[in-house]
Amino acid sequence: MDCDRGIPDDRLAPLSLVSGIPPERFRASMLSSLVRNVAGRIPALHEIWPWVRPFGRKNRRCVQGWQYCPACLMEDAKPFMRLPWRMAWHVACGRHGMMLQDYCPHCHGPVVPHRLTAMDMELARCALCGGDLRDSRTEDAWGEVLAMQEACDMAAVSGVACRDDGEVPAHEWFDLARFFTGWLRRCDLTARYAFVERLLPDVDVIERPSLTLGVEALPVNERARLLVPAVRLASKSLGELTESALEAGLNGRSFHTRGRLPVLLESVASALPERKRARKGRSGRGDGPRPKAVVERMWRRLQRKAGLA
Ligand SMILES: [Zn+2]
Ligand SMILES: [Zn+2]
Repeated sequence: MDCDRGIPDDRLAPLSLVSGIPPERFRASMLSSLVRNVAGRIPALHEIWPWVRPFGRKNRRCVQGWQYCPACLMEDAKPFMRLPWRMAWHVACGRHGMMLQDYCPHCHGPVVPHRLTAMDMELARCALCGGDLRDSRTEDAWGEVLAMQEACDMAAVSGVACRDDGEVPAHEWFDLARFFTGWLRRCDLTARYAFVERLLPDVDVIERPSLTLGVEALPVNERARLLVPAVRLASKSLGELTESALEAGLNGRSFHTRGRLPVLLESVASALPERKRARKGRSGRGDGPRPKAVVERMWRRLQRKAGLA
């Protein structure tokens, strides 16, 4: 059970009785109020919770655990895990300006404090090897990462997100940002690449994450590389998105994934032309050669698939 998502009342009652902590205080330490703003509702316990870092399991063993800031744990008289560290956009510590860490510095295993026992006495220990998590050294956070994180935090807490053309409900903006994380990972389609390049000319090559995990489950650095451009795209005005989509030659169906279109893209998609009929002949795409970076990435992937790299 992932206790941060919620504990059924019949289990919480005895816990409250033994600990003397009222049930409301337990509930206040869980994810529900944040997730309500982020997802627009509280998902059922068995669902995938968007933007919440999962505790991936393999044969009942956690393969992903908590991420944490070693400097924060160092300052704590009684070290504790911060709730925001469960959220996928948290990749750095704003207080210490450092990237978060997502494994034990001693055994490189996942951080799974729920497997500690009362004998371990404190949460800053690795449950797998007993090493001290505070021994970790992490790199400085880049400015864009902290800005991205702050924008997400503000939206999650207030329920309102600020875009270039005004405010929108936070869950619609988060949905769009999550959509773009998927898009950016499959940016080897020529028109998509052209669209992103027009909107974010300073982002040269968007590396495709090496793992095919959902954005929530990616390691800290890969997640940061994907989220910074995705959040920037989600904050562009609808006018700019539409204009860039037209210039890039996208059509009305381009923004659909698995039959779903993010709410904020509805007006953009309806301003685009219908899907073109596939043209016969040798050059089916008809929009010139693919950009060099795209070809290089496709080549690297082909090499990986063939076991050559
Ligand atoms: Zn910190
Ligand atoms: Zn360890």
